[in-house]
Amino acid sequence: MNAKRILSLLLAAVLCVSLAGTAFAAEEEPLVICLDPGHGARDSGAVATYDGVEYQEADLVLKIALYLRAELETYENVKVIMTRTDRQGEMPTIDPEKVKPRVDFAVQNGADVLISLHLNALENTETHGVMMLTSNGYYNRECADVGIALGTNMLLTLSQLGLLNRGHLKMNSSDRRNPNGTVADYYAIVREGIWQNIPSLIVEHCYLTNEDDFRNYLSSEEKLQALALADANGIAAYYGLQKIGSNPRQLVDYSEHWAADMIDIAVSKGWVTGYPDNTFRPDNTLTRADFVTLLARLSGETAAPITTNPFPDVPAEEYYAASVAWAVSAGIINGFDDGTFQPAAAITREQMAHIMTLYLKHKGISVQAPEGGGASIPDLDQIQPYAKNDVLFCYANSLLNGRDEGFVPQGSATRAEACTILLRMHDYLHAHPAAEEAPAAVEAVLSPEIALPPEAEA
Ligand SMILES: [Zn+2]
Repeated sequence: MNAKRILSLLLAAVLCVSLAGTAFAAEEEPLVICLDPGHGARDSGAVATYDGVEYQEADLVLKIALYLRAELETYENVKVIMTRTDRQGEMPTIDPEKVKPRVDFAVQNGADVLISLHLNALENTETHGVMMLTSNGYYNRECADVGIALGTNMLLTLSQLGLLNRGHLKMNSSDRRNPNGTVADYYAIVREGIWQNIPSLIVEHCYLTNEDDFRNYLSSEEKLQALALADANGIAAYYGLQKIGSNPRQLVDYSEHWAADMIDIAVSKGWVTGYPDNTFRPDNTLTRADFVTLLARLSGETAAPITTNPFPDVPAEEYYAASVAWAVSAGIINGFDDGTFQPAAAITREQMAHIMTLYLKHKGISVQAPEGGGASIPDLDQIQPYAKNDVLFCYANSLLNGRDEGFVPQGSATRAEACTILLRMHDYLHAHPAAEEAPAAVEAVLSPEIALPPEAEA
């Protein structure tokens, strides 16, 4: 999401509050998505032969892209542009130097994001699964974060088809440098996108060279369309898109509540939802599962493979399972000493402070409490040691306020209070962007047999 779009969302949120009842979506500029079916013209991309028929990546990803465009156009306020719509394409891609015109095309047409669609290939035909090629974040952290969060959502929806989730590959160039001197991204379209300030990622849907991947995901029009639908679901989840004609539900029970304005914003941003009977129940007690779910939505990173979930009391079919798995993978929660997560338990205020500071840390924010903070908290000694710094940090930064009787660390919170906390976290993150310096190490999520594709790849 670029600065222009963030601004328009914030403006729309303000309008939404001041003009009660005004539709949120109608105030927004369209989200412009540039789809880039990889390769084209004389560049076939990966090639494999099954049952005597040769299949070329350039043809298959074009089909996926056309299905994906059709699906994305069923959502409100989305405009899709494509770098090519036939095998030749307006921009033949045989030459790696021709990657730049594709990024130029996206930028000149006002795209918010550039999604390059590919199939993977290896000499080792055993390797299979879905992978995202995303930026190392050394040059343009904001763009990189969008690509990574979007890619994480797409990894979840694609892996729900049964594809092995191979995660993100954030590969460094061995010789190229960014304009600020840091190590550039290896993949040309990711690198050029980052340089031109457009989030850009490569979706390697599966391995054309693996026969199971081919037969399960590429061998019919229906299977290619299923990949495109999964792509669209991941994109829609990240951007909070709504299907055309689907009226957002009007929640009926909080217009007189003290937190009504905050609940409006949290609902319009998709951080919170109501119950099936169109109530929000603002004074209901917040559970641990709900708080993690809300944070996952706030993060825009909602997805992690549910198989990574270590808690026996978090069944995979529960609505909060993916959010809990995300929070574990992001280092935001670690559960209780007995190995449980206790999703239905009321979350305590000190648990919230602990999770909130770990979330900010995950976002690259320093969370050291100020020296001598907390002198004005009468029940300071009631706070458990593990959460003391967290409470003092949240209190000093007004992320969590005290109550009349003190901080009340063992007290619970309501759903309405959760909305105000999400809004403060959102504002705090915007006022305190993550430090610009590079992350310590490129994420190592791939098994060692991954070979480097040629530079011509995207
Ligand atoms: Zn490719």
